[in-house]
Amino acid sequence: MNAYDRMKELVEKLNKYAALYYEEDAPVVSDAEYDKLYDELRALEESEGYSLKNSPTHRVGGAPQKKFAQSKHLLRLYSLDKCRTKEEIAEWYARIVKVVGKEPEITAEYKFDGLTLNILYEGGEMVKAATRGDGVTGEEVTAQVRTIAGVPRKIGYTGRIEIQGEGIMRLSALSAYNAVSDEPLKNARNGAAGAIRNLDPAVTASRNLSFMAYNIGYSDRHFSSQREMHEFLKEEGFETESDFTVLKGAEEAFAFAEKVNELRPDLDFLIDGVVFKVNDTALRDEIGYTEKFPKWAIAYKFKADEMTTVLRDVVWQVSRSAKLNPLAVLDPVDIGGVTVKRATLNNYGDILKKKVRIGDRVFIRRSNDVIPEITGVAEQSPDAREVEKPRVCPACGAPVKEDGAFLYCTGEHCAPQIVSALDHFASKDAMDIDGFSEKTAEQFYNELHITSPVQLMSLRREDIEWLDRFGEKKAANLIAAIESAKDTTMDRLLFALGIDGIGKKTAKDLAARFGSFDALIAADRDALTAVDGIGGVLADNIIAFFAEESNRKLLADLFACGVTVRTEEKKEGVFTGLRIVLTGSLPTYKRGQATALIEENGGEVAASVSKTVDMVLAGEDAGSKLDKAKKLGIRIIDEGQFDAMLRGELPVREGGEK
Ligand code: NAD
Repeated sequence: MNAYDRMKELVEKLNKYAALYYEEDAPVVSDAEYDKLYDELRALEESEGYSLKNSPTHRVGGAPQKKFAQSKHLLRLYSLDKCRTKEEIAEWYARIVKVVGKEPEITAEYKFDGLTLNILYEGGEMVKAATRGDGVTGEEVTAQVRTIAGVPRKIGYTGRIEIQGEGIMRLSALSAYNAVSDEPLKNARNGAAGAIRNLDPAVTASRNLSFMAYNIGYSDRHFSSQREMHEFLKEEGFETESDFTVLKGAEEAFAFAEKVNELRPDLDFLIDGVVFKVNDTALRDEIGYTEKFPKWAIAYKFKADEMTTVLRDVVWQVSRSAKLNPLAVLDPVDIGGVTVKRATLNNYGDILKKKVRIGDRVFIRRSNDVIPEITGVAEQSPDAREVEKPRVCPACGAPVKEDGAFLYCTGEHCAPQIVSALDHFASKDAMDIDGFSEKTAEQFYNELHITSPVQLMSLRREDIEWLDRFGEKKAANLIAAIESAKDTTMDRLLFALGIDGIGKKTAKDLAARFGSFDALIAADRDALTAVDGIGGVLADNIIAFFAEESNRKLLADLFACGVTVRTEEKKEGVFTGLRIVLTGSLPTYKRGQATALIEENGGEVAASVSKTVDMVLAGEDAGSKLDKAKKLGIRIIDEGQFDAMLRGELPVREGGEK
């Protein structure tokens, strides 16, 4: 194909994708796939020395939809130039240094992945909100934006001013929405964009969006730097990003990007990169703009975490809790440098909700440690077929029972269930039996008919030394490991029991709160839900588990065969008996350090603010937790006061003794 034909093909494809993305909020390819084609087009245009009239490289965004009133921005909005390597950051910075003749300060911010909003305030009142549209004219979405709690209706500044930022859907809001919605949203970006560009403001309200302010457009007042804008936005009550930093040079910029990329999985919102901008607004005028983006800013994009590929098959796996889990078999696809061939579809209900069929092109999201997930259909295939609901367990042939979204094996002796339950029982965070693996569990089940943890914990050397792959020494080692694992802690044993929904953190919290299995078994729903992170469903699971005679017998038999539960010595210190919430970023301590200091000194760190919390340690840019603490009248301290308490110079209880 000659260059002209390829350019034409790329322009058509990209324009089709962009229309679906910007105008319908219904993309059919991932951003990474779009970007790859876009970069190819840009390279061709450069090497050929010309471009086609309707090329997306000349355009910002998409045309505003006619179903909305059109809104002309007071100041034009731009896109951002992008880079992916440290060298490219350095090249951008070098270009700027050359223009301004010195090494200017640059700001570093998150690149939020949502929908750009331009909000106009006059006389201190919010009067209009619009999407970016083509940069000159956007869609008027005032009624929709009014439903976003984080957008102040009134601000102190009474001049004319455009506040710009991103309408986003927090990941917690997305999962809360998807948990009850018949039509799950594919991702938080589409969730936010689709909610704002919807004629019914009630739809916007139902998605519980947030607004992250990062820029000032037109303004009667002059701002001399990005930092000044950031401070202004904070003071006026907008939510802004807490990691906003001013730095110099490509080295520092890249270090910032790497740090943010690392903490990205912990954030409650999507970011697809970081943005660097020249801090001084006077210098920006010298540096200037292209027709599409400011030359004084650049977005460093992270590696992709989402791609599309074809779903080839669904296989069912039995978990230790008898659930049949659907595992998607995919055409291999590279996501951020990792080849993905399998993904989870969560449960049968999820397949129905997402309307996923074998043969369809689907979106796959992969974030660090968790197994990749199919988030929705990108493009249906005419030859696709429905995913068949299994009627019998694929492992043991027992009938399948349906309960809500889940399918369960009803077999009493289903091998994979038993093997994975034994493997879980012995695992590192549970009983920690050194040298015991899933393979061992399989072998013990097949050759010794070991089906329960009690049988496992009662093994003797002579029972196993004759087995294949064993022998005297290995057998002796494993028996010694079993013996030493018998001396354990309550949280480990509780986690080992494999109660549905009890992970190691919850097991720790329960053990800390109740101290003994007797107390835990006696606890009612109220007592259980008072523990951080335990809701009604989990509390019911715990109650149902211990209500079952066979489970209580299992516990008693484990104790009878020598398992003992050590009570962890509670640390004593200035914070003994206190529950403390951390929020915002502290000047010196990282979150983990502050947590360790509280726990080493007898306190407990709680995840959310409630009446049972005694104190809130708040840093910069503390958000809703701080507001809630104020409402509930909970004591709020800063890092200085925290240190003074640790030194014994400030009483930990108000009006109380030291
Ligand atoms: P962009 O979204 O990559 O960058 C510009 C935007 O970044 C701004 O408009 C602003 O809204 C946002 N932003 C977030 N945080 C910011 C901050 N701190 N400071 C300033 N701006 C910030 O660029 P674009 O031109 O809007 O869109 C192009 C991108 O959209 C492509 O790279 C592609 O990834 C995606 N896209 C995808 C498809 C698809 O089909 N999947 C189609 C078209 C475009």
